[in-house]
Amino acid sequence: MIARGVRTWVRRWALWSLPRHVVIFVLLAETVAVVITAATAETAIHQRDLVLWGILALGSVVHLEAVRSIERVREGLRHNAPYVDLKSVWTFAAVLVLPTPLTVALVILTYVHLRSRLVRMPIYRCIYSCSTVILATHAAAAVLTAGLPTYPGLPGTAAGVFVIVLAAMLRWFVNHGMVVAVIMLSSPQTPGRTALGIFSNNIVEVAAVSLGAVTALAAVTQPWFIMLILPTLVVLHRALLLHQYEVAARTDEKTGLANAVHWSETARLELRRAERDKASVGILMLDIDHFKEVNDTHGHLVGDAVLKVIADTLRDACRPHDLVGRWGGEEFTVLLPGVSETTVVDVAERLRKLISVQEVPVPPENPTERIKGLTASIGAVTYPATGPALEDLLLAADKALYEAKANGRNKVMTVPHLTS
Ligand code: GH3
Ligand code: MG
Ligand code: MG
Repeated sequence: MIARGVRTWVRRWALWSLPRHVVIFVLLAETVAVVITAATAETAIHQRDLVLWGILALGSVVHLEAVRSIERVREGLRHNAPYVDLKSVWTFAAVLVLPTPLTVALVILTYVHLRSRLVRMPIYRCIYSCSTVILATHAAAAVLTAGLPTYPGLPGTAAGVFVIVLAAMLRWFVNHGMVVAVIMLSSPQTPGRTALGIFSNNIVEVAAVSLGAVTALAAVTQPWFIMLILPTLVVLHRALLLHQYEVAARTDEKTGLANAVHWSETARLELRRAERDKASVGILMLDIDHFKEVNDTHGHLVGDAVLKVIADTLRDACRPHDLVGRWGGEEFTVLLPGVSETTVVDVAERLRKLISVQEVPVPPENPTERIKGLTASIGAVTYPATGPALEDLLLAADKALYEAKANGRNKVMTVPHLTS
């Protein structure tokens, strides 16, 4: 009875919904983390180590509790990039002054706390993140063991600090490398820049690790001074919000595409670059045909689901450096750098055909039917052939789109076919 319950529970894990190669990679990484931890578990642990562990554990619990409200805001603004947090202040301090098994125990504690109180991430993701930090911890401990005669314990020389920097770099490299690897493996269409994380966030992580070294120093000399580190940590944590607000400001909430303002800004920059490089840029304007009927028949929520399917279709079918935007309502714009007058129609035709084979299950959770036969009309123009400025290009694309509608919809039209 219990065995069957456990089996059903395991079968329901979100992990199994990932592609098989990602599942193998994740399980392999977790196994290696467990094996190395078991192999290095036999270490003498003194009472002083336990006291230090208690101090760092308490610091980490207070820190995470203090930033709960910030994390709630961050959760609403999440996008497909590594989850950045500052727990490394405590876990890096632990690597420096504690035997590795205790550091591993602290890493696990911080993840259990994070998962239960702050971030509702799927459990497999939590276990994987925890494993990457454990592997990174072992890598850092190996560097410190090799480079510091006093390890575990802080060095008193500049050369010793250099070894700490090396250990921190390797720790970051292992942890980050494994997170990026799994993002790239599970969604290869994620732009490299997104997967690598944002410079401003990475620099905050570097600051957290530096602060971790100072925390270690405080823990072994004047533990009460750790209280003075906490306000700095909360401020640092708020800095992580900055980038997420920037992303939210340029994203259309319903579809996740670029919003009209961001799309136009990017298009203007691209046209300026094309002018400099004597290159061409394709621009498509796309409008879903008879979309009002979808709303009238199935309701606005289903209409929204259709918008999302079309948005995903367009984004997935474009190259990473193309930019798909939601212009408004059920209209989309596509920016195609380097696409010439001769190929822009081919791209538009490919997108038009892709849209016509999409099916949208309704209702999404428990589908009883599928919406089929969705079509779109597309106006296609190019810089510089159609015009020099973005406004001219959009006006021409809109005219071509109108012509496509007038000619029976589900069509691609370009400027030479314009009658007016
Ligand atoms: P046509 O083939 O001529 O383009 O016909 P259409 O019905 O697609 O065009 P029309 O412009 O008359 O209708 C667009 C509809 O899109 C009207 C509006 O209610 C709906 N719409 C706009 N924004 C949204 C949205 O965010 N969600 C949903 N569900 N509907 C939206
Ligand atoms: Mg329409
Ligand atoms: Mg419209």
